[in-house]
Amino acid sequence: MKVSFPHMGCITGYKRLMEKLGHEVIMPDTPTQRTMDLGVKYSPEFICIPFKVMMGTYIECAEKGAEVIVSSGGNGPCRAGMYPDVHQKVLEELGYDTKVIVFDNMFVDFKAFYQKILMIKNNTPTHKLIGIAIFCYNLIKKMDRLEKQLKIRRAYELNQGDFTKAWKKIVKMFEACETNADLRRAYKKAIDMYDSIPVRHVEESDRIRVGIVGEIYVIMEPSVNKNTEEILNSLGVEVENVQYISDWVEHNVVPKWLPFPRSHRIFNLSDKISPINCGGHDKENMGWVIDFARRGFDGVVHLMPFACLPELVNLGKFPAVSEELNLPILSLSLDEQMGEAHVKTRLEAFTDLIRSKHYAKQRTRLDDVAETLESAAKKVGDKVGEVRDNLTTTPKTPKYQTK
Ligand code: SF4
Repeated sequence: MKVSFPHMGCITGYKRLMEKLGHEVIMPDTPTQRTMDLGVKYSPEFICIPFKVMMGTYIECAEKGAEVIVSSGGNGPCRAGMYPDVHQKVLEELGYDTKVIVFDNMFVDFKAFYQKILMIKNNTPTHKLIGIAIFCYNLIKKMDRLEKQLKIRRAYELNQGDFTKAWKKIVKMFEACETNADLRRAYKKAIDMYDSIPVRHVEESDRIRVGIVGEIYVIMEPSVNKNTEEILNSLGVEVENVQYISDWVEHNVVPKWLPFPRSHRIFNLSDKISPINCGGHDKENMGWVIDFARRGFDGVVHLMPFACLPELVNLGKFPAVSEELNLPILSLSLDEQMGEAHVKTRLEAFTDLIRSKHYAKQRTRLDDVAETLESAAKKVGDKVGEVRDNLTTTPKTPKYQTK
């Protein structure tokens, strides 16, 4: 079959999985203005931006001959629940014979999940299928680890663009991997590539760290979030994104009663502030904000599609949460009108704010230490003075008494 998928961050894992299952892969292009225009033209007017961008991508893939589009997500109380049906209907009305298959949490409806596996497994024997699943999981896990490092180390590169260039080479390297041994070699080589890039030394106390939370599609796809992470890195800020494809897989495949992955515990961290999940990742995102505050992050960037219901719920709570946790939160509402210059200006202003707050906190800490030392020295001085006074004022005991 000719198979495609939405462009959502790093898509090497999807590509290798479909190739290993014997499908012909139609690679989706990085969303462009044309993708956006197509999506806007053929989507319901008030639908959220991930739907529109995906719609545009699906049309482009159908134009290139894709017979099947495989995607993830697709249920829940918000509009995500109607994505697959509406995407399918629009494609049909445009005359494309392309089927949309959406995978979601297998614990929600295991039978439907299994039927979809049967549709794409392409008669692959079960033992081979397990091997392919393990290979692809290893691949996305390793690539995600490298991408996480990229978003930290890139903040300190001496020559702007070195890490991004290295990352592009790393993606190509992983695309060529065939076995688990290849993956291990590629990972080692990738680390060596990172290590060879000149970086400036920054003291631990000078590191500025920002967490990224929000709707899964917009935080994973740089063309939609206008390269938020790269902009922050270029401003000398380390970035930690809460969504990666391997984390999503673990969150949806590992039973919730197990102590891992971490996202299960993070989900429960927000029980008091967000007792119910309104759809998407709103409850989990609130948990991540609390986690970032506990880990001493300097700020959080909240990326939400314009009119996204679950993230609007978070948006309403964030001012109070930010004050309570003493953690600046910048919310950016993204739609088809949003330009990179606007995002950049907002991020620059935010970075200035959190940087000055970071150093103000440090000064306060130093002042506290100085005050403590001063009062300790005073106490010691008082004690020494007391002892000396006692020594000089205590009358000498006479050796013998005379009448
Ligand atoms: S989470 Fe937000 S953006 Fe995603 S489908 Fe739901 S309402 Fe739309």
